Parts: sequence; C-alpha cells; structure tokens
Amino acid sequence: MSKLSAQTRAGLRSRSRLVHAGRDPQEQHGFVNTPIYRGSTVLADTIDDYQGGRNRYTYGTHGTPTTDALTSAWSELAGAAGTVLTPSGLAAITVALLAVLRAGDHLLVTDSAYFPTRRFCDGTLKRFGVETTYYDPALGAGIAELFRPNTRAVLVEAPGSQSFEMQDIPAISDAARPRDICVIMDNTWATPLFFPPHARGVDIAIEAGTKYLSGHSDLLLGLTSANARYWPALNRCFTEFAICAGPEDVFLALRGLRTMELRLREAERQGLAMARWLDARPEVLRVLHPGLPDDPGHATWKRDFLGSSGLFSIILKPVPRAAVAAMVDGLELFGIGASWGGYESLVIPFDCSPYRTATAWAPGGPALRLSIGLEDAEDLKADLDGGFARLRAAS
Ligand SMILES: *Cc1c(COP(=O)(O)O)cnc(C)c1O
Repeated sequence: MSKLSAQTRAGLRSRSRLVHAGRDPQEQHGFVNTPIYRGSTVLADTIDDYQGGRNRYTYGTHGTPTTDALTSAWSELAGAAGTVLTPSGLAAITVALLAVLRAGDHLLVTDSAYFPTRRFCDGTLKRFGVETTYYDPALGAGIAELFRPNTRAVLVEAPGSQSFEMQDIPAISDAARPRDICVIMDNTWATPLFFPPHARGVDIAIEAGTKYLSGHSDLLLGLTSANARYWPALNRCFTEFAICAGPEDVFLALRGLRTMELRLREAERQGLAMARWLDARPEVLRVLHPGLPDDPGHATWKRDFLGSSGLFSIILKPVPRAAVAAMVDGLELFGIGASWGGYESLVIPFDCSPYRTATAWAPGGPALRLSIGLEDAEDLKADLDGGFARLRAAS
C-alpha cells in the first residue's frame, strides 16, 4: 500500500504528482523505484488459480509491475480512465485509430497532422475501407460541416506538426460529442502537463514518449490514454494486437517522468528565448511558435494550454537552397536529425507542400524546425549567428 492517502493524492499539484505517481515502495521491499520486471511466463500456484484468472499478473503481454507503474502514473497525470504503452509513438496513434474505426467509417484528420499518421490513414486504413478527409486546422466549430452520417472520429493535433497551427479543440469536441464522434488527439508537443487532454474534451490522447517523457533521445515509446467512454475499446484493441513496449524502455520512461516537469519548463523558457531572438533576426521572415504574442494561434494557445515546449519552426526570407545548406551544415551545437524533446538541440529543413490537401503550404521561404535543448542559450545563439553569416555569404 502506498503511504499517500487518496485525499492527499487527489489534491497533488502536477509536479508532486510526477514524483509520487505509479510508485509503491512498500511493494518493492522499500526500494524507491519499481524495478524492471522481464518476463513472459507468470506462474500460478494451482490450476484453479490459473483457470480462475485470480492472479494480478497472467502473462507478459498483459502487463507487469513495471508497465503498471507507468500506465497508472500516466493515467493519473492525464486524467484518463486507462493508458496502454506501445513500442513507438506512431504505434500509439495506429492503435488509437484501430480501436474506434471499422470498415465503412469516415475519419477527419487535420491537414497539419504528423506525416506518418497521414501515411497510415492513406495506406492501411484505406485498404480496410476507412475513408479519410483532411481538414483545415483553423476550422474550429466549423468542422461540423464536414461531418457525415458515418463519421466516426476526428484526429486533432495542436500545434500542427512542423507548421505549428493551433486548433480550437474544445470547440471541435463540443461539435463531435452530440454525434458520438470520437476526438483523438496527438498531444506530444504539450504533454498532459501543458494540455490536460481529457479535461479539454479529448476522448483518446496520444503521446510519443520518445520525446519529452524520455528526454534523452535514447528510447522509443508511445502512450495512448482514454476516457471512460473509450477505455474498454482501446484496451481490447491493444490486447488483440499485443503491441507491448519493452521493459527497459518503460523503466527509462518512468525515470524520465520524475523530472519531466523541470525539463519541460526549461524547454519552454529556452524555446521562447530562442524564438524571440530569431524573430528579431533580419534573415528570418516568420517564427512559428504559438507562445509568441503575434502568432495567429496565440489567443487559443493562451486560453487552452498551460505552457509551451522547446519545439518550433522558422521561415527564412527567400534564399537559394545552397545558402540554407551553408547555414545548417556548418552548425556545431545543433544536430541535423529527426525526433526532438531530448537534451540536445536539433534542426531539420521541412516542406509540407507535397502532401497537404485541405490547405496550401506556401510560407514564403525555406522552413526549418528547431528543437531547443538544454545547452546555454547564448552558445546556441552564437552557433546560429555563425550560421546566418554563412547564409548571407552564400545568398
Ligand atoms: C515523433 C512523433 C510521433 C511518433 O513518435 P515515434 O516514437 O517516433 O514513433 C508522433 N507524433 C508526433 C507529433 C511526433 O512528433
């Protein structure tokens, strides 16, 4: 039994919750952390126990004390009825979609969605008879006009992957609920700390634990949480697929969970400092960061979100590709690579125009996405300063 009374636990602020959630030292001989339980087989004492399903654990794919520690902590943090853990963030998205959709259904997906989500909708879901329509992320309550009798779910993501458009998620949820349309959200950018998904009307929320939960670029993990309405369907689908996460990765994610609030607050502080600095650069046309007051999504972000993370994009004034390459290739502190949310800064070029269908992507210049890490911001500015000098020289 945990020492925390139910009353104390219910009143904890998120920072204290991260320290105490999913932990029960008395069940671990007094050790602070739940260790890595590795295993497929779980032994029963008698055939009655085996057949009667009386044991708390029955088989590795159905959960271990290590996975229970993370799922219970995450459900507490996200305000969910239940959470499943998958081997990647993308698997967390696919299991969410497959839990609610069936042949003949119609699905609405934001045009600003994470590209691999789109590939799954246009590939596997299409093959299984689900039709996807992409919508303008600025629609808000206007999404109701796209509802058809067979619309089963809406997938929102805010801010948009790479392009950082905000969405009015409470308005979308208010439009969907009376029609019993499931609202699924990719909440990786904000995490439940900066956007409590289920309290804002989201039915199923996805987190790529690969990003801020891990915080160290050393693991892949997905978390899918559901409210009471959708938890039975999600849990059933997860059990049928048995796409369970590995115990070492779950343990590392639990370790990351304890410091996630500190790292996220620092990512927000550093991210905003760098975004403001970049906004003032003559080489930069626009910064795409909803935490900046002149961003088109700022009012929505301020109303619904409790913070911002260290991931945002910039649009450069038009220059040849070779000038962008001269800038980025010579950076010493920023790595060129996918993923984000680790302790180290990253930069990648991107272009949404080849795949967007509901909205045009014509930002007016080359686009770069930045993940700001824990380096000293002055060192990061110096690195980018050198980059801008190379860009000007090559323009
Ligand atoms: C990275 C990412 C994912 C997928 O996570 P993986 O663990 O890399 O599969 C999903 N959604 C968003 C918004 C992401 O940035």
